Amino acid sequence: MLLIPCPWCGPRNEIEFHYGGQADVSYPEDPDSVSDVDWAHFLFYRDNPKGVLAERWSHQAGCRRWFTLRRNTVTNEIHVDDDASEAGAVTR
Ligand SMILES: [Zn+2]
Repeated sequence: MLLIPCPWCGPRNEIEFHYGGQADVSYPEDPDSVSDVDWAHFLFYRDNPKGVLAERWSHQAGCRRWFTLRRNTVTNEIHVDDDASEAGAVTR
């Protein structure tokens, strides 16, 4: 079980959250101009590091807000930046 620190509600059990995938994945500026390979890369390819990964989470059973956290994929240590916000980190 993960104890996820919602920036607005405080620490809560992971079952209250929805995982939104890797953070900071940029939407192509002109999707019509990218190749099928590049489009598939945007849709399906994500980093899989052994270490810290930025992730999007939504507190579905609470405030329903989205935020970015950084989770160590080995230890599950979680850090939420002080400036976590809904608008600032939505990139896809
Ligand atoms: Zn919350």
